Parts: sequence; structure tokens; C-alpha cells
Amino acid sequence: MARYIGPVCKLCRREGFKMFLKGERCFTPKCAFERRGFAPGEHGRANAGRGGNERMSDYARQLRAKQQARRTYGILERQFRRYFNVALKKRGLTGLNLLQTLELRLDNVVFRMGFAENRAQARQLVTHGHFLVNGRRTDVPSMLLKPGDKIEVREGSRAKPFFKELPDFAEKRNCALWLERDVRSLSGRVLRLPERAEIDGNLNEQLIVEYYSR
Ligand code: SF4
Repeated sequence: MARYIGPVCKLCRREGFKMFLKGERCFTPKCAFERRGFAPGEHGRANAGRGGNERMSDYARQLRAKQQARRTYGILERQFRRYFNVALKKRGLTGLNLLQTLELRLDNVVFRMGFAENRAQARQLVTHGHFLVNGRRTDVPSMLLKPGDKIEVREGSRAKPFFKELPDFAEKRNCALWLERDVRSLSGRVLRLPERAEIDGNLNEQLIVEYYSR
């Protein structure tokens, strides 16, 4: 599945908030959003703060909300639409279903467990076949997990320098409360579905539902 390969800091600047797409750099003064917290492009300064601009039309706000979620999870339009259709068929609130579906992607779970610095790195680790899901090797970052699923780093990958150092790095990162992990054995499990409060508060699922319901 294709992915966005352009500059990511521009995405934060466009959306008007930090999406932490880079990892460590996001927490330093080098963060592009900290240095230039306005939209990129010739008219970026003039439109500074357009992420929350009251002059935006309803459609523009809906579009931005959709783009923010899509860019946060690193998903292109067609697949995002597919996730929306999955969410639509489930019982309950469509917006929450959508966010839960996005959170349950394998690359996101690897990231949320602290085994990767950002979702892009998590995606690469998965596509390179370093992870097992319920004992089976998988290289599909969009794979949707469910409560009870177990992930672990493949035995053959553990000897690589990256994975030898990973426990020390992972220990410094938080693990989402709806997941459990064991940094020493580089494994973890999905305990339950994430609650809304455990998902990025910058995302506005209601506007996304409105966008697709036009
Ligand atoms: Fe966004 Fe991180 Fe780049 Fe800052 S450093 S603009 S938070 S991706």
C-alpha cells in the first residue's frame, strides 16, 4: 500500500498543531512548528492559525479534520475512506469506531507500545518483517489487531543492533494503557479497545463523519 513520502513537518504546520511525526526531534527546539508555527507556502504567514480559523467554512473545517486524522496515522485517502466504511458498518458511534480502527493498525500498535520512534518507523519495521502477530510473521502494517492479539519481535531480528538497543529506548517511552508490553522480551498484547480519552485529543471525529456524510 502506498504511503506519503513528502516532508512531514509541513503537515504539522498546515494543520496548525504538532502531530509528532518525527519522534525525538518533535520535543526539541528544532521542531519546525516551534520555529515557524504558520502554514507553509507563500501565504502561510497571512493565513497563520488557519487550523482553528473561525472564518473557515464548514466544509473547510470538515476537510481539515479528515486530513489531520489521515496525516496523523500516515494513511492515504483511499484507505482512509475504506476505514470509514468499516467504521460505518460497526455498531455504536461511527467517529469513535473510526478512531479505534485506526488505533488498531499494526504499525500504530508497535508505535504505541514504544517500539518505534514514530509511526513511519513502526511501519518500516513491520514491512521489513521484524514482527510476529500471534506467532506468525507479518509484513502488513495496515493489519487490524483485536483484543487478545499478541505481537513480538521475530527471533531472527533480535540479534540486529537496532533491536539489541531497543529495550533501553522503549523503556523511556510510554505504552498506551489499552496495551501491555514487556520491553525486555520485546513483546506485547492488545488488552482492550482504546477509549476516546486515550486517543489523540486534537482529532475531531465528528467533523470527519460530517465530511463523509456530505
Ligand atoms: Fe511536527 Fe515533529 Fe516536525 Fe515538529 S518536528 S513539525 S512536531 S513532525
